[in-house]
Amino acid sequence: MRARAAYDVSADELAALLDGQPAYRARQVWDGLHRRALRPAEMSDLPLELRAELDELLPAALSEVERRTSDGGGTVKWLFGLHDGRRVETVLMAYPGRVTVCVSTQAGCAMGCAFCATGQAGFDRQLTAGEIVEQVVAAVRAARPRRVSNVVFMGMGEPLANYERTWAAVERIHGDVGISARHLTVSTVGLVPGIRRLAAEPLPVNLAVSLHAANDALRDRLVPINRRYPLGELAEACAAYVGATGRRLSIEWAMIDGTNDRPSDMAELARFARPLGAHVNLIPLNATPGYPVRGSPPLRVAGARQELERLGVRTTIRSTRGAEIDAACGQLAARALAARAPDAGTRPGHVVRALRVR
Ligand code: SAH
Ligand code: SF4
Repeated sequence: MRARAAYDVSADELAALLDGQPAYRARQVWDGLHRRALRPAEMSDLPLELRAELDELLPAALSEVERRTSDGGGTVKWLFGLHDGRRVETVLMAYPGRVTVCVSTQAGCAMGCAFCATGQAGFDRQLTAGEIVEQVVAAVRAARPRRVSNVVFMGMGEPLANYERTWAAVERIHGDVGISARHLTVSTVGLVPGIRRLAAEPLPVNLAVSLHAANDALRDRLVPINRRYPLGELAEACAAYVGATGRRLSIEWAMIDGTNDRPSDMAELARFARPLGAHVNLIPLNATPGYPVRGSPPLRVAGARQELERLGVRTTIRSTRGAEIDAACGQLAARALAARAPDAGTRPGHVVRALRVR
């Protein structure tokens, strides 16, 4: 067999590769890779020769291009290189009772959300299931001695536009790495067919919908896929998801200065969220080179939260973890891009023009 990325080899392929070895070997190596997050060279329960051989036959898919740490070591962000030179990012966030890793599902993204660095850079390719799983494994290794408790599919890319591979990764993370599906959250921009498909899956993952606007005119501009799957259809699919799975839905809302942070925006959001029993996460927008509008000031974010709570919607303000290392969707890649195009700086104040881009 020629070399294949370790996490893109199936259990059967691994067994075939280990033909001639004792029968328990395949399980031993599989557990070593997934549950123990080891490279073959580190599997001290294998014969030395086999370790070296497997290390060559089952190389890592990800190579660390850059690693940045902040929050006193509590937040780690990687830029990983793939075999074809593509780049993806992964973020590890350690909190007192919880360690969360945020993984990418695509190199780039085709959804073109105006405010998102990944969307601004466009789509490169789908990640394989193994490339997704290996991000989790890398974080598991880095988090030690703590255990990674949660995985969020909120890095680069739209998970439901890479459905099969994302789902294969979910099954592998749940069944083999050992992080329960109840602690996995798939975030989507609102691909209705994908949400309906997810509702029919046997594993109960959490769903987060990136809403950002609760009227079609504004959402069409901020999140272009809304033109294909408008809010009415999205609400129906979300209701079907909640009904079928009994899982709590969360709604992500990037707070954009003067754009979607007014009391009237909160009223619309509450009308969308309340019938679904959804929990709202407010995230102050991170500035990106291609979208010169700022995040809402802290007082307005706090006011929005109060208003939503008053309207009966449970709301959390998401901490801007790792802000100083650009630990937000697509931010590291965005900096690399900006370095290539030095005039692509942030231009605060051009609010109206930015909104008219789409
Ligand atoms: N494609 C999926 C998952 C990846 S994006 C989705 O859109 O849900 C992860 C989250 O980061 C989404 O909620 C997205 O809207 C948000 N996001 C993107 N760009 C952002 C920015 N500049 N500031 C704050 N949040 C951003
Ligand atoms: Fe893609 Fe999500 Fe960014 Fe939109 S917000 S462009 S769907 S990664």
